[in-house]
Amino acid sequence: MRPLNPVIAACPPSGIRRFFDIAAEMDDVISLGVGEPDFVTPWRIREAGIYALEHGYTTYTSNAGLPRLRELICDDLATRYGATYDPREECLITTGVSEGLDLVLRVLLEPGDEVIVPEPCYVAYEPCVGFAGGTPVRVPTRWEDDFAIDADVVAAAITPRTKAILIGSPANPTGAVQPRAALDALVRLAREHDLYLVSDEIYDRLTYDGAHTCLGTLAPERTVLLGGFSKAHAMTGWRVGWICAPQAVAELCVRVHQYTMLCAPHVSQLAAVEALSGPDDDVDAMVADYDRRRRVFVKGLREIGLDCPEPGGAFYAFPSIRSSGLDSETFAERLLHAESVAVVPGNVFGPSGEGHIRCSYATALPQLEEALVRIARFLNAG
Ligand code: PLP
Repeated sequence: MRPLNPVIAACPPSGIRRFFDIAAEMDDVISLGVGEPDFVTPWRIREAGIYALEHGYTTYTSNAGLPRLRELICDDLATRYGATYDPREECLITTGVSEGLDLVLRVLLEPGDEVIVPEPCYVAYEPCVGFAGGTPVRVPTRWEDDFAIDADVVAAAITPRTKAILIGSPANPTGAVQPRAALDALVRLAREHDLYLVSDEIYDRLTYDGAHTCLGTLAPERTVLLGGFSKAHAMTGWRVGWICAPQAVAELCVRVHQYTMLCAPHVSQLAAVEALSGPDDDVDAMVADYDRRRRVFVKGLREIGLDCPEPGGAFYAFPSIRSSGLDSETFAERLLHAESVAVVPGNVFGPSGEGHIRCSYATALPQLEEALVRIARFLNAG
């Protein structure tokens, strides 16, 4: 047979899935491995979905998505951050941030273009750059700096082929929120070298210690903003996200999307309209709950001897496991087999993640407390 696409063939399976598969075969596993809310979608949003089905909203929508939803997204960005996007020309609805990421990289990149990706980072960033014909160029961040992106390190990685910098803040897997100064420095670099900034802000509502800075307010002319409903509204399975970007970029994203996806699911878009129409109580309650768990869990990790940088956002803790003397893969595998606690080894998020494990605290508090007991027992036995 003729060879398959070599870029895709060379892409390893997700390191997260491997641990799920092992954990799925075991009893009594406490999973801190999953990157999704443990809440069900708030009832009034589900009700809007049910209403949409009952009334037969089962068709395609316009390619860019429901105008009402785009208006609400742009209004929301204006209200919360002062960002100004035209819902007709600078906003489109995608099937999750996942599709948004894929779309925008295909639109921005020509074969061989480089994209700078600070790591540790979300597992999809590097593969998606590769699938779009580009080359991901990793730059490290350090937990000693709370994973803040160092513009000097980024600058050293820029070449004539660099087209964009791809960042996520608040971040998966570290929970780090990029400080304003780091973002300002990135914007200066991007302007100096004429680079796009692709900013995955899917966790923007999930911040605990300070306000989130929307990159779209700092450099709107070159920022492609990715956001969605999966995390803050507990809507992972509905598959709704959005892109807000300069008109030329948004237009080409719609061009690709109209051939590949046509539109995000109609019922889900109507549910998303409800998510942005009602009061914020549900989001606020979930954020307060994550924050409570975050405090207990991070304190607990430190008490059992695992250094843990303060996660300011998302729902992940990324403690150092260096004191165990084990690499992250061995640590995660042994912890799973010895104590039935599933975590994700830090190295799957990039080389700077080595020496860490990712623990999701989107898990009920009693489970988190039991996980701490088990991890402590594992450390003491080692
Ligand atoms: N971006 C980040 C940083 C994520 O952690 C995830 C999911 O875990 C996604 C994007 C995918 O989001 P969506 O469900 O909107 O496709």
